[in-house]
Amino acid sequence: TTPIASARQEEKILVTVRLRPLNDKEIEKNDVSDWECINDNTVIYRNSLAERYNYPTAYTFDRVFQGYCTTKQVYEEAAKGVALSVVSGINSSIFAYGQTSSGKTYTMVGITEYTVADIFDYIQRHEERAFVMKFSAMEIYNEAVRDLLSGDNSPLRVLDDPEKGTIVEKLTEETLRDWNHLQQLLSICEAQRQVGETLLNEASSRSHQILKLTIESSAREFLGKDNSSTLAATVNFVDLAGSERASQALSAGTRLKEGCHINRSLLTLGTVIRKLSKGRNGHVPYRDSKLTRILQPSLGGNARTAIICTMSPARSHVEQTRNTLLFASCAK
Ligand code: ADP
Ligand code: MG
Repeated sequence: TTPIASARQEEKILVTVRLRPLNDKEIEKNDVSDWECINDNTVIYRNSLAERYNYPTAYTFDRVFQGYCTTKQVYEEAAKGVALSVVSGINSSIFAYGQTSSGKTYTMVGITEYTVADIFDYIQRHEERAFVMKFSAMEIYNEAVRDLLSGDNSPLRVLDDPEKGTIVEKLTEETLRDWNHLQQLLSICEAQRQVGETLLNEASSRSHQILKLTIESSAREFLGKDNSSTLAATVNFVDLAGSERASQALSAGTRLKEGCHINRSLLTLGTVIRKLSKGRNGHVPYRDSKLTRILQPSLGGNARTAIICTMSPARSHVEQTRNTLLFASCAK
């Protein structure tokens, strides 16, 4: 292959699918599992009705994970390479996409923790460089951005800074000291998200959460002399709003406008991802939503992207699951 072809290959969006086990509620309702991973790349729909409705029954991705796969395994194969490129100065974003209750938060929290643990480990093994790790957390609900660390619920402004590009004004940034500090910050975020949830009905299924890690490093021998060896990059962990919001908006017909308002970020992200996965030419509508504006420096260009699509195996969820797999197919 030519160098250009292999560079393109590198840029490809990594799309994986995680099937969770049936949960107690589903088992209680006598729901059954209709989906099975038949190998590392293919998930199939095993229901005799599939043929009658002319559904595609096999879906192939970079990797699919069975119900019994651990989050550690998902991290290693679906996120680690993309997330850890941050220590080399490359921006990245890791997304969890799927309907409410499919396992997005379960997956993203684990992946964030494994990444931070690996970065601390990397820092220890590279004493020749001085590292600073910074942590921020925000939520986007109805196109309003809220800080998940400040305890202040007022919306933050998204601005275009001539030097830094798009920034979220007044977003809290904590310098991460150690593992316990991360745990403290994650529980503050969790509590803040719950505050939002009581204020706004079903907020967690309608809001996007972005956890942002920025790593800066410089070679110790040049410390205080020049900044020619300084590297800085960001990795974003994005726990998206339930994908049922996007399909509702699309199918709502006359109520499309309302749906679009609720889900503008999710719909725009879908468009941006599809454009990026088809090559870098043409207009990419980053500016059409808060989520894509904020993530623009970590999407496209040199940035690396991984999307983990989470799915329930339950028969009762088949319509949403198919929508998720369609999204995943368009993204790869
Ligand atoms: P979402 O964030 O997509 O709404 P959650 O991550 O909250 O979904 O998952 C819903 C429930 O299913 C939670 O109780 C979670 O612990 C459980 N769960 C999700 N994924 C898995 C999995 N792979 N293995 C076991 N339990 C899971
Ligand atoms: Mg969740």
